[in-house]
Amino acid sequence: MLIKNARVIGKDGLFELCVEEGLLASGCKKDGSIFDAEGRLVVPGFVNPHSHLGYSVTLRYGKPNQSGTLHEGIIRNLEDVIPKLTCDDVRRRLKKITTLMFVNGVTHVRTHEPFMNGLMYKVHKAREEIPLDLQVVAFPTPGVYRYEIEEEFRKASLMADVIGMIPHGERTFMEGVESVKLAFSLAKENNKMIDGHVDETDDPNSRFTEEVVKEAIRNGMGEKVTISHMTASHSYDSWYFDKLMSMMVSSKVNVVSNPIVSMHLQGRYDSYPKRRGVARIRQMMKAGINVALGTDNIADMIYPLGEGNMLRVAQEAFLVDHFVSEEIYSLMNMITWNGAKAMSLNNYGIGEGRKADFVVLNARSIYEAIRSALPPALVVYGKHYVVNDLKFSIDGNDVTGLVENLTD
Ligand SMILES: [Zn+2]
Repeated sequence: MLIKNARVIGKDGLFELCVEEGLLASGCKKDGSIFDAEGRLVVPGFVNPHSHLGYSVTLRYGKPNQSGTLHEGIIRNLEDVIPKLTCDDVRRRLKKITTLMFVNGVTHVRTHEPFMNGLMYKVHKAREEIPLDLQVVAFPTPGVYRYEIEEEFRKASLMADVIGMIPHGERTFMEGVESVKLAFSLAKENNKMIDGHVDETDDPNSRFTEEVVKEAIRNGMGEKVTISHMTASHSYDSWYFDKLMSMMVSSKVNVVSNPIVSMHLQGRYDSYPKRRGVARIRQMMKAGINVALGTDNIADMIYPLGEGNMLRVAQEAFLVDHFVSEEIYSLMNMITWNGAKAMSLNNYGIGEGRKADFVVLNARSIYEAIRSALPPALVVYGKHYVVNDLKFSIDGNDVTGLVENLTD
């Protein structure tokens, strides 16, 4: 396949990209298909480092979440939904939800899966059939000590790519600290990465991030460690947060924020005014911490909406954390390279000889892409690709493509 008139991110001018046998090659066979990008922007495949695909699109398996809280969502998931998810069901839904993400330009996903009722194993087994790259996290929700599932956790960490944790979900502060230590010991034993649900509350006294950072420094594992959510940081006082950020910078840990779902879940116990309850993305980015963005839940007991559109996630981060317009380029980094770094992806990016892994956006600039959050015109990952027929773009001045595509 030849992609002509492509505006490749970070380069001036228009280029031809050639995909042969799933790789980016220097020259194309003449009889292959041709896609005219018409000057659209080409970026590496989007990276979504935080999701829960095993129970995505499961609203019909239980009664709707009445309070809208994370607590009720977790309990409904564990009691009503997960016990009903058969191998067949997981396989079918995983294929559909990953295809939906792929159509939205996502080529790499990390999913946090509870191993209770075997869900993590079912997802692991089904991942061979999907169009994108998937990492599976052994997620001991709602708490490894709280549910007394340490043995199951040890077993699950042998198969998972990444070790999870949820220290704020444990019964006591001390158990939370113990759960952080357990995650690090399992990661070291099995040579795995770590990605925890950490401080996903509005409680300013939820301070497990510092424990994770300390362990990352002691074990020299910072780049392999991701702190997901960290919504309590929204409520920390600034003196404490400044100290915490300096530890985070020196530890080299990654942070993943999920602004859309955090906006839905946090602040639920506030009366007006309600806190935003999203991690301090912009401050951490400015301090030099590797911050990436994820979708988190899609159409489940915890969040009933969502479709895997990473440009929409970037847009939400822009809104919720008071970004200014000249910082928009950094949001594109957060849904591409920063996510790739958090997931320790090797050979990520657009380059000759590499696996084809890119998105032709329905936009000619980063500004236009994030402003409009339109689905891409073409997505390619190895031998998989999808063309979205309706190609159009909207910049600050004009709408192109829509009227030309209108049929009577
Ligand atoms: Zn999550």
